[in-house]
Amino acid sequence: MIVIMNPDATKRDIQEVVEAIENVGLCAKIMEGSEQKIVGLIGDKRNIDTLSLEALHGVDHTVAISKSYKLASREFHPISSVVDVDGIKIGDGNPVIMAGPCAVESLNQLLEAAKIVKKGGAQFLRGGAYKPRTSPYSFQGLKDEGLKYLAEARNQTGLKIVTEVTEVEAVETVAKYADMLQVGARNMQNFRLLQEVGQSQKPVLLKRGLAATLEEWLNAAEYIMKEGNNNVVLCERGIRTYETYTRNTLDMSAVAAVKHLSHLPIIVDPSHGTGKWRMVKPMAFAAIAAGADGLMIEVHPNPAKALSDGQQSLTPENYLTVSCGVYKISQFMHDTGLAITDL
Ligand code: PEP
Ligand code: MN
Repeated sequence: MIVIMNPDATKRDIQEVVEAIENVGLCAKIMEGSEQKIVGLIGDKRNIDTLSLEALHGVDHTVAISKSYKLASREFHPISSVVDVDGIKIGDGNPVIMAGPCAVESLNQLLEAAKIVKKGGAQFLRGGAYKPRTSPYSFQGLKDEGLKYLAEARNQTGLKIVTEVTEVEAVETVAKYADMLQVGARNMQNFRLLQEVGQSQKPVLLKRGLAATLEEWLNAAEYIMKEGNNNVVLCERGIRTYETYTRNTLDMSAVAAVKHLSHLPIIVDPSHGTGKWRMVKPMAFAAIAAGADGLMIEVHPNPAKALSDGQQSLTPENYLTVSCGVYKISQFMHDTGLAITDL
């Protein structure tokens, strides 16, 4: 349930609402935008008398949240969230790019990729140290050594690091090196892992499961947020359908749907979404036009030699063309008033 305050409600009015909620053992969350003041209420709402809450000074009305997920819903939190990763803002209207190799292969490979990525204006370097691979015989990642290379790349470039954590036991270590923890598609419903990254308080990039509905995905975000970690960014990376030409079917409509259903920022991964480097540019452009807050793109200094996902990785030249186009499209949409704001 949320409590909508009158526009002229005072801080004291809001505090009284918070106290009324907390006095019956429920949790209150204050959300203040430029036009709206809202107090969210988490817990069993049967414990509270809605009528007496509505009678408090400064309260306009209360609204029940109809969704199975609450904290992640726009009903609960009508104001779009901006996730701040150590000074980089995701969801503030400027596209954020997370780019780099699928897997960290060596320090040289990573540093080379990092330089290209930085040149193209990306704010994050991506790279898997722990790789969840379909075949157990495929390269599984450099693990802790890879994490050290990522930290070294951050030292040399200033780029933020986003990298995947695949198991509960590794959260603490990965959180030491990364600026943002990535939960991959295969782990989207690993509920213990979601709770653990929630408790770590590091920002989380939550990829959509291979066959997850939007409701399942947003409930996965809810698991993280329930632990008190609101810094969740969603990433659409394609879903499994009957189509076999592309690796996955990139569900671009998820961007518009999630923007309506949730206040969380959403980015798009056209690399895993298509599995084909030729399709990365058009899908990256489409994602920005659709209102995505950013992109995750695989880039390799030499895709033909990549130890994983070379077929969907961009060469340095192609990456620079794509990122340049992305910023131009975003700028054009802002300048012409075409940016999607009617959520
Ligand atoms: C990745 O981004 O490295 C990755 C493995 O992607 P996904 O979890 O979307 O398959
Ligand atoms: Mn990959």
